[in-house]
Amino acid sequence: MATLFYERMKALLGDEYESFKEELSKDAVKTIFLNERKADRDTIKKIIDFKIEASRINDRVYFYEHDNIGRTNAYDLGLIYPQELSATMPAQVLAPQKNSLVVDMCAAPGGKSIDLLNIQDDITLICNEHDFKRAKILRSNLERLGLSPIITSLKTKDLADMFESQADYVLLDAPCSGEGMIRKDRSILNNYSLNNIQKLANLQSELLEDAFKLSRDGAYLVYSTCTYEIEENEMNVYAFLQRHPRVTLLDIQMGHGHPGVQYKDLASHKLRRFSPLDGCEGQFVALFEIHKDDKQKHISYLKPCTQKIVDAFINEMLAIDHYYLYKFNDYYYLSLKPVLKIDKGLLRMAVEVGTLNKQVFIPSHSFFRANILRPYFKKLIELELEEYLKYRTGLSLFKDVEDGYYLLTYLKQAVGFTKASKGELKNKYPKGLRF
Ligand code: SAM
Repeated sequence: MATLFYERMKALLGDEYESFKEELSKDAVKTIFLNERKADRDTIKKIIDFKIEASRINDRVYFYEHDNIGRTNAYDLGLIYPQELSATMPAQVLAPQKNSLVVDMCAAPGGKSIDLLNIQDDITLICNEHDFKRAKILRSNLERLGLSPIITSLKTKDLADMFESQADYVLLDAPCSGEGMIRKDRSILNNYSLNNIQKLANLQSELLEDAFKLSRDGAYLVYSTCTYEIEENEMNVYAFLQRHPRVTLLDIQMGHGHPGVQYKDLASHKLRRFSPLDGCEGQFVALFEIHKDDKQKHISYLKPCTQKIVDAFINEMLAIDHYYLYKFNDYYYLSLKPVLKIDKGLLRMAVEVGTLNKQVFIPSHSFFRANILRPYFKKLIELELEEYLKYRTGLSLFKDVEDGYYLLTYLKQAVGFTKASKGELKNKYPKGLRF
């Protein structure tokens, strides 16, 4: 099977094949990007206690050396996200503008959604993942980074029906044969088959139709995969343009990566391909401007609610003049702007504040981690390093403070929360996150 892959790559890459093969035999590069929605670059770099080196391709991406990045302070504090270098390209190419409605159709585990919000956080972002288990991983990654977009778990068809002709920007980072992962997991080639590639190409072409449906007239759509296969990349782009002659393929002007490979009369120079030849793993990116006859559909918003106990909690914790409160599945959510109406598949609509149990309010960890609320917290306690490390293991801390809830910070970064009672800071760090 691997032989077939190499034969096909030889035919695809021509003169560059030998260098590609050599680069592919090396180890994968390990990169992280910095979560500048949480802290500025210098602060993040001070907290990172392992070796990093800036990449030349994206100034927020760094090569790193660490065997267990998930156990570092910077990771725990949501200041970094492990993301392959070329996987940061689709969000950079889409580059949504302020106040727009952006849909990430296949969002889990979340790297590109996070990247979109790092580029522009003043957007309404719907992060969708059809697989419910993966959607929950997406939610926990976003919460760790303190980000609070809308999260849904819907089939892309249902998503497209719900938001038909409404999105200003759409990212379709499609399921694919994943060859960009080969240097990380060589066993991928054991399952290499033309049948599988064709099946995926058919699925991607259906998803592209859902992306088209979601887009309003004048919207931008990025189609990306992490494979080198022409059927899943250039051929799908070509077929999409054939089906929608008014859609334009835009020129991705980037000084790095390679142009697409030639297919029929497709303007392949407008596409971007990244592979080990470019010092990364694998990404294909196409940018379209959508033109269609349908008018942009009306956007409906949810009706906010009030709840005395919840409002009292929010006002005790935050110095905030105005917010929108919503209730969904027993939980209360806070947003700084109105939230879209979503009838099904909703996992999270904004910042989860907490829930009521017999008129007693139980706050959520994500309320205290939300970046958008960080400037408004009135009640907080700054921890020393030893205290932060102790708290993270699940132990109580002791301090002479008034009873009540507090945001805990380390180097001013939101860690979690505590309920103080007679000098004991009870540990509220979620069990699954302790170490
Ligand atoms: N954008 C993500 C990121 O940056 O972390 C990676 C997305 S991954 C390449 C593709 C996603 O598509 C997977 O999470 C997978 O569960 C989802 N997927 C698989 N089959 C699908 C289908 N039939 N419809 C919609 N999504 C699907």
